[in-house]
Amino acid sequence: MKTMGTGFFILAVFFLTACGTVTLSGEETQDHAAHPKDYSVAAIDDMAALPDIEMVDGVTYVDDILVVNEAFSLPASYNPGLQPEVVEAYQQMFQDGSEEGLDFVLVSDFRTYQYQEQLYNSYVARDGREAADEYSARPGHSEHQTGLAIDVGSADSATTLSVEFGDTPEFEWMESAAHEYGFIIRYPEGKAEITGYQYEPWHLRYVGEEAAAIYESGLSLEEYLGID
Ligand SMILES: [Zn+2]
Repeated sequence: MKTMGTGFFILAVFFLTACGTVTLSGEETQDHAAHPKDYSVAAIDDMAALPDIEMVDGVTYVDDILVVNEAFSLPASYNPGLQPEVVEAYQQMFQDGSEEGLDFVLVSDFRTYQYQEQLYNSYVARDGREAADEYSARPGHSEHQTGLAIDVGSADSATTLSVEFGDTPEFEWMESAAHEYGFIIRYPEGKAEITGYQYEPWHLRYVGEEAAAIYESGLSLEEYLGID
């Protein structure tokens, strides 16, 4: 909470005016931060139930996990590149997969804010804003800008970035193994209302050790963190 700056309050206003479905209001969080010394049993129960949301230089962490979705964005200047732990994790996963006779392909990884902006604007020009919002993240709202997300395909390129990837042997193996490498299937089937994205079997998000608990829970990241 210590570094929470003006960005937080701008975000809170955005929540209240533009996003009626987000149940965690900025008000609750501010209240939580404003009474750190209330140690009554009821207050401690309340605090345990609330996710710990922290903003550092415009980047949102919920219980120490970086979160980007329709509600939480990244600043245009956030430009970390693909993180080395992610490279190590996916290379190991691809290698272990190949020993099972599977053939993984890295389809995309880090994207800058500016690149996402170009992509999004080209979609808007082609299909209109409403249609573009159905399938593309707005700039600042793509998880690829975190340097912690990758899109994975199989040798069968016909399934690249399509739900059919979910029917490949590669996905079948990856679905139950990705967490061992620190990844979660970020946009699972049937969770579009919560994550804001249709089922994307190809999109992996690196969260590190906590991936196992998220996998076991069967929840989307938003549900797991209590920000759905
Ligand atoms: Zn992706």
